[in-house]
Amino acid sequence: MNDTLQSLDIKTLLDNPGDIPALSPVVSKVLSLIRSEDVSAKELAGVIQNDNSLTMKVLKVVNSAYYAIPSKISTIAQAVVILGFDTIKNLVLSMSILELLVSNTEQVKQVQNLWERSLFMAVTARQIAVRRKEKANPDEAFIAGLLADVGMLMFVRHAADSYIPLVIREQEGVEDLTSMEREIFDVDHCAVGMKLAEKWGFPDKLSQPIAWHHDMTNADDMSAELEELSRITLFARRCASVIYHQNLEDSMRDARLQAEIAFGMENDQLDEFLVEVFDEVEKTADFFGVKLEEQANYMEILQEANRKLSQMNLSYEQMNQKLRKANERAEKLAAQLQEANAKLQELVNIDPLTGVHNRRSMTQFLEHEYVRARRYDRHLALLLLDIDHFKKVNDTFGHPQGDSILREMSNLIKGLLRDTDMLVRYGGEEFLVMLPEAKLYAARIAAERIRRNVETHDFAHLPDSTMHITISIGVTELLNEEVCNSTEELIKAADLKLYEAKENGRNRIAF
Ligand code: GH3
Ligand code: MG
Ligand code: MG
Repeated sequence: MNDTLQSLDIKTLLDNPGDIPALSPVVSKVLSLIRSEDVSAKELAGVIQNDNSLTMKVLKVVNSAYYAIPSKISTIAQAVVILGFDTIKNLVLSMSILELLVSNTEQVKQVQNLWERSLFMAVTARQIAVRRKEKANPDEAFIAGLLADVGMLMFVRHAADSYIPLVIREQEGVEDLTSMEREIFDVDHCAVGMKLAEKWGFPDKLSQPIAWHHDMTNADDMSAELEELSRITLFARRCASVIYHQNLEDSMRDARLQAEIAFGMENDQLDEFLVEVFDEVEKTADFFGVKLEEQANYMEILQEANRKLSQMNLSYEQMNQKLRKANERAEKLAAQLQEANAKLQELVNIDPLTGVHNRRSMTQFLEHEYVRARRYDRHLALLLLDIDHFKKVNDTFGHPQGDSILREMSNLIKGLLRDTDMLVRYGGEEFLVMLPEAKLYAARIAAERIRRNVETHDFAHLPDSTMHITISIGVTELLNEEVCNSTEELIKAADLKLYEAKENGRNRIAF
């Protein structure tokens, strides 16, 4: 054995039959029988019977509770007839692989639990295949699980000193084994295992899942059967990690994820399933005649994994809570910002002195109403208001008084309008009222009402209650105008009427 092997060596060694672990001659014979087209039960039985200890083991297993055969089976030929060719074939393969793993354990003792873990994977794979019913053959799943890590044998046989630390690192949950293998040996145990299985003459559906039991991302173009077996094997590895790796919570989480993604199993179902697996592992070890060295307390491990995960969930929950709070804060800020923006928007659209719409905001509303009225032949009336002799008001009482009057006037007019009407401070002491859907007749009434209300209003800021402010109003309505091709033209029409009202003596409306 040489521990200073270079990366390529593992691959090279695979080509040398003397450097790969040997299967028993009986198994090789069984495998070659499987490959040949038509093999009789008698031939198979004959091959197995050549190996006494294998015969004893097979008989022990077929008579175990697992197969629940009512009468005792005493010969392999009988077993083949009763359980079928495939079952016996798979049984022989399983036994041989297990033996291979167990017999190499002494040599590779430092790879803790290699065969136990393989047995665990085998049982897990078989039990999930049983649940998956028609999709996979449980016996084949069992062998796939058992074989999954067989590639590790090559590394421990030929480069134990550099390899074992990698295995330990993985079991400690530090790093993924396959990436460490590829880095140091240029090849991982998945590829090596598949190659071994091919060398031994295992069929594709048993060698392929070995290749994918760590990562299926590159596994494309597979038959549904192969894919199912590969998925089962990968799941079995994840479950085994829960028991045999130290980073319990990560392993458990991975297993749960795989259970859910691949088989739609919920967390509770996985727990239940694992308990069933634990039970089966012990039984299976028993009837295969191998002894679980250190009886792992599976239940304890499972409980611990769940406990740790729930702690993790708790901290997730705490994190979530923090996130929610941060979100709430952000939402509150956003709301404040929105409010500020709305205020800003108002500032942009509202006349600061009077609090009514300014000319800027009117433009878009009027444009909108104008287009709509034009398209659907609807009425749209405009009132253009101008305070009479306002210059004199300013001159007499002062500009600030004038401002107050402008404010009071705005409020007064606003109170006389409908919700859908719009009051705009159009210029200094000029206002514009937009009356959507108003015919000229209705607009005249509205204008007259405004005029009269202003005339009779007692302005608080006028020192003398005998003094009155009056306004003149030009009234126009879109459908009443012969030529009106824009909002500007509509306003201009209103302006002409206003001029007319002024000309005719003020404090009046013109239409
Ligand atoms: P008429 O419209 O009846 O022809 O006479 P008028 O005196 O109202 O018209 P003119 O356009 O000559 O004067 C408008 C006046 O309105 C001039 C200005 O002092 C006043 N004015 C315009 N904007 C404001 C304002 O924001 N505050 C105050 N206090 N006065 C304003
Ligand atoms: Mg004016
Ligand atoms: Mg005026």
